[in-house]
Amino acid sequence: MIKEDCIFCKIAKGDIPSATIYESSDFKCILDVAPANKGHALIIPKEHSDNIYELDAEMAAKVFSFATIAARAIKEETGCDGLNIVQNNGEAAGQTVNHFHMHIIPRFKGDDVKVTWKQLETESEAQNELAKAIKKRL
Ligand code: AMP
Ligand code: ZN
Repeated sequence: MIKEDCIFCKIAKGDIPSATIYESSDFKCILDVAPANKGHALIIPKEHSDNIYELDAEMAAKVFSFATIAARAIKEETGCDGLNIVQNNGEAAGQTVNHFHMHIIPRFKGDDVKVTWKQLETESEAQNELAKAIKKRL
């Protein structure tokens, strides 16, 4: 399904031009128009899903499988020292385009990109309870 007024549906269809690295019948891999670093790429399924909660598991497998190939190519071309896979869901997580996509962000020693968090302390009993509670929902 294509969603009206979705910028990534339009990119996936080719209605909006993009710097395209790869295209299959299932997804497009493009360069981000406002990259965190040189070589910052996005993998965008052609079928519209708002986020990971809606994404078909088979499509997820295809997207991540291609990410392994794109990551190697981007590393070779940019000479990056590291690379982050980032995938935002919901405004609270920083999602700005509500069409599922995966970021591939090359990292260079000393760059100013922030993909980080303050680590909370945990207590093992509470962690085990939480793990059990989540497991029940699988
Ligand atoms: P997110 O914040 O995870 O939703 O990421 C959305 C990303 O889409 C941002 O990094 C934007 O720079 C990128 N973006 C928005 N419009 C375009 C576009 N027309 N072409 C390429 N990337 C885009
Ligand atoms: Zn869309």
